[in-house]
Amino acid sequence: MLNGKTSSLETWIIKAGSSLITNHGKGLDLDFIARWVEQVVILKQRGIQCILVSSGAVAEGLVRLGIETRPTALHELQAAAAVGQMGLIQRYENQFQQHGLHTAQILLTHDDLANRQRYLNARSTLKTLLAQNVVPIVNENDTIAIDEIRFGDNDTLAALVANLMDANRLILLTDQNGLYTSDPTKSPDAKLIESGKAGDTSLLEMAGKGAPGKFGRGGMYTKIKAAERAVLSGTATIIAAGKEPDILLRIANNEKNTGTWLTTDKSPITARKQWLAGHLQAKGKLVIDSGAEKVLTHQGKSLLAIGVRQCEGDFKRGEAVICTTESGQKVAVGLVNYSSDETRQIIGKPTTEIAKILGYIDEPELIHRDNLVIFS
Ligand code: GLU
Repeated sequence: MLNGKTSSLETWIIKAGSSLITNHGKGLDLDFIARWVEQVVILKQRGIQCILVSSGAVAEGLVRLGIETRPTALHELQAAAAVGQMGLIQRYENQFQQHGLHTAQILLTHDDLANRQRYLNARSTLKTLLAQNVVPIVNENDTIAIDEIRFGDNDTLAALVANLMDANRLILLTDQNGLYTSDPTKSPDAKLIESGKAGDTSLLEMAGKGAPGKFGRGGMYTKIKAAERAVLSGTATIIAAGKEPDILLRIANNEKNTGTWLTTDKSPITARKQWLAGHLQAKGKLVIDSGAEKVLTHQGKSLLAIGVRQCEGDFKRGEAVICTTESGQKVAVGLVNYSSDETRQIIGKPTTEIAKILGYIDEPELIHRDNLVIFS
């Protein structure tokens, strides 16, 4: 993890949309939520770390406000989401508490995850919550973002969370059995696609290219696009029927007839390192001592401030920096946990002094191992 040890547990991002969470658009489907929670509890007992992505705030908000017909004005939907989010999270917290677990509310926008600094913060917080055995419940922050309200697009948000966490699996629960060769509501010979390669563009044709929401808001198109995005972090996507009994447990057992599996040969770790190596433009340079060089190249550890001699450039937390030896040889590139101003104050100092020097501590490491690529 970013602040602390790397965990070898599997991480799953499990998303359910409004069609499953709500009772025909009127308030929450408490039975569905209870069954969903029970399965997540069992997955956790089996050592799978779960992050839920849940809609349902607007529907619950409308019920709480006594509004019968869904408004068309965005600000009214956003207000309903703000009211309903309370009910949604209350429900999850109550259900999980019955199993001795706590939940955490995480409201995100797509932009949050595009911003390097917020990306690192979100990743650190989620990793910490998982280590504390808390179940994070993610939804779009509807007060300031409207992607889901307008496009039904929590699928993309779920994929971004999969990237953020290098998740092993992204499970998109829906009211369909999976992706069909054509629209099953119109053509009787439409066949369920049971498996495919995540990122295979021909799947988009079947999902109704250019027609997002063909099978309902946030339909198959956004799900296939989400799988394309998720595979960037080595995450496999499974599109499955949320109301099938024990669907998550059957997926955990790798059973057949559990929807559409879009898999990849890449592991999340390999994918993350490739992404780091290929997409980062270094904003600064850290000159490290021979001890730090050894620890990075031979022991697979993180870079600590004490091993850094010099800091060059102007960078923010979450930006990429190059690590070189004193003779200028490039050793690694990684996402730094402290800005250049902060880094200059803490280099050469032990981790235990960071809080005293800065007045706070973001992470014990200057660059965590997970966010570091070593040049061989
Ligand atoms: N994120 C919103 C929710 O959780 C949007 C869903 C909608 O527009 O109905 O309710």
